[in-house]
Parts: sequence; C-alpha cells; structure tokens
Amino acid sequence: MISEAMRELGAQGNPMRVLFEYGKKRAAEIGAENVLDFALGNPSVPPPAQVNEVILEVLSGERRDSIHAYTSAAGDLEVRDTIAASLNRRFDAGCRGADLFLTCGAAPALCACLKGLCCPGDQFIVITPYFTEYRIFIQGAGGETVEVPAQRDTFRLDIPAIEEALSPRVKGVVINSPNNPSGVVYPRENLDALGALLRRKGEEYGAPIYLISDEPYREVVYDGVEVPWVPHCYENTLVCYSYSKAISLPGERIGYVLVPPSMADHDAVYQAVAGAGRAVGHINAPSLFQQVAAACDGMVSDLTAYTVNRDLLYSNLTALGFQCVKPEGTFYLMMKSPEPDAAAFSKKAMELDLLFPDTGSFSCPGYVRIAYCVPTSRVEQSLPRFARLAQMYGLSGEN
Ligand code: PLP
Repeated sequence: MISEAMRELGAQGNPMRVLFEYGKKRAAEIGAENVLDFALGNPSVPPPAQVNEVILEVLSGERRDSIHAYTSAAGDLEVRDTIAASLNRRFDAGCRGADLFLTCGAAPALCACLKGLCCPGDQFIVITPYFTEYRIFIQGAGGETVEVPAQRDTFRLDIPAIEEALSPRVKGVVINSPNNPSGVVYPRENLDALGALLRRKGEEYGAPIYLISDEPYREVVYDGVEVPWVPHCYENTLVCYSYSKAISLPGERIGYVLVPPSMADHDAVYQAVAGAGRAVGHINAPSLFQQVAAACDGMVSDLTAYTVNRDLLYSNLTALGFQCVKPEGTFYLMMKSPEPDAAAFSKKAMELDLLFPDTGSFSCPGYVRIAYCVPTSRVEQSLPRFARLAQMYGLSGEN
C-alpha cells in the first residue's frame, strides 16, 4: 500500500511541465527551431557575471576544502548575516542573520512556512490567479485552501473579498507580487489595506493572521515600478524569496524564509519554520550557492531582453485584437482566450506549434499564460503565428 494522493500528484505533473515535455518531444520530431515554447518560467538571460566569479573565487580560495561540507541547518550564519545586511541596506528591513532560514528556493520556503504554521483544521487564503503549486503545498501541510479572486480589472488584491473569506479558521494568507501569472505588482496602498485588514481581524479573533509573501520575482520589474517591502505594510509577514528568477539560478536551488523581528511570537514562529524544514529534510541549502547568495543578494540579471519581449508581445497582441494584462513585472503575460474554453484555445495554438498553457490550473479560467523568458528572436518568430490565431478567431485590431 502506498499513498494514493502522492502517487496521483507524481503521475499528473504540473501542466506547464507537461507542455514543456511535449515541446521537447515535438522538437525532436520537427526541429527545435520550429517549436515556439512559451510554457515554462525558465530564465533565458544569463546570471550576472559576479555569480561565476564568486563560484571560481570560492573554489580556489581559502574555503576550497570546506565548501562542500554541511553548514548549520538554517544556513551558514556569516552568509545569513551578509544577506540580512543587504536587506537592511535595500529595504530598511531591520533584520538579523538569525531571522533567516536558507532554503532550496521559494518552493521549500513556502512549504516550511505553511507546515510550520498549520494546525489541524486551519485554512490558508490564496488569491486567484495563483501559482499552481500553492494548493499542493497547503494540502501537504495539512491545511485547506480558500480561493479569493483578485480584482478582475486590475488583478490587484480585492480587500472586501478577502475580508469576506476571513474567519477564525484562517491561519494565513499567501500573496505573490510581482505575480505569476498576471505580471501585476501590488501597489503600496493595496498592501497597506491588506495589512490593516489582517491586523484588525487578528485582534478581533485574538490570534495573528500570518501573511506569507512569495517574492521570487521581487527584482524582475519594468519601468521602475515600486515593489514595497511587505513587512513594512504588515508586521506578521513571512517573506519567501528565491534567487531563481532575478539572478537566473533556478536549477541551483537557493532561497530563504525571513521571519522579521516585527513578527508576533517571533522566536516560536522561526523555530516552527526551521522545524518544518527539518521534518521534510529541507535543511542545509546548497553550501556553494549560499556563498553566491551572500555575494549577489540584490543583483539582477540584465533584464533588457525581457523588457523588449514584453513590449513586442503586448503591443503586437493587443494590435491583433487580443486582450492582455500589461505585465509590470515577472516574465509572464496573461492573455484572455478568444473562446470561453481557454484549454481549447491553447490546443489550437499547439496545432501551430505555439505552446502556452491555459490558466485553469492557476484557478483563473478563460486566460492563457505566455512565458516570454525566451530569446527575442523566438518572440519575433511567434508573431505571424499569433496573427494566424487571431485570424482563425476573426479578431481584428478594433476589438
Ligand atoms: N512561487 C512562484 C510564484 C513561482 O513562479 C515559482 C517558480 O516558478 C516558485 C514560487 C518556486 O520557485 P523556486 O524555483 O525558487 O522554488
């Protein structure tokens, strides 16, 4: 007898990855140059040069004989102190290295927070559309997911709708800004309003409601848009960060949970996060990349290609008559399906070897997500195929 729930999860795969695997198969049949794959959020721009410099320095320097050894379970304290100093410089975060728990990216950071906070019967609010895996992480922590839609025009937080979903059973709210898949960045007043609501309701219920802020795209923004430091908007915020996107290191698995000093019951919450990491074996993030994180915190890959891709796609797709949400950050563009069944639209695009998933798995039916973290030449190559799609649906620029 094995866990049927886990077997099912393993057998399904995440829909983006299923499409990505299809793309690889199709590339073997018709040539990679003919498949335009916008399925996966795999950064296409290289990491900043400093990343490789740090790696080479560490491998040839004083630490070369010990770099592959275990560190403290939460990560090397010197590394955590350096990251904390960077957060204090950049955001006035007022944190210490001892507030950080280093993880293998944002996914285990989220799992550690959810498992650390969740007691039997607890619920967690997520904002639709949301990163597909939240539901699975919450389920894995033993919690229940409560979906609250974002505002449909702006895709920002809908504060009255969140208030309606709050009850004494809600242990936490998970937010993600810059947002995957909408590309929207929540402005300060929106986050302040959420903070005020959670503070008021926490007082009413006599227990804090935790905010879990998932921020792997924190630095991937356009036109200088502000990404507020969420713990300044609400004191009981756990920050989940990853170096996967801003410095293009998704395969190296490095990130952190920050439990800021402002957190109610700070020490207990930090210990619960660390204990949850321990319970699932997620301790001691990769030692070499801990060093990279310390040296490169706050750096950003050259985002020029993403900016060009965003502008090319947004201007051309809207000119063709598609309705798109203009991304303020991330490298995803959400586009309304021209037919009610977005999965059918995505299938039709597949016939043109244009691969992008519908957003049903993000609990936001009726849209598709285009991951434009690809070389600009691929975006240029895709435009005639999008034009054919528009023609197939009878769209015109006047729509
Ligand atoms: N959260 C969001 C919103 C994401 O888009 C992703 C990855 O795409 C993750 C978390 C997981 O990030 P990581 O690769 O650092 O585990």
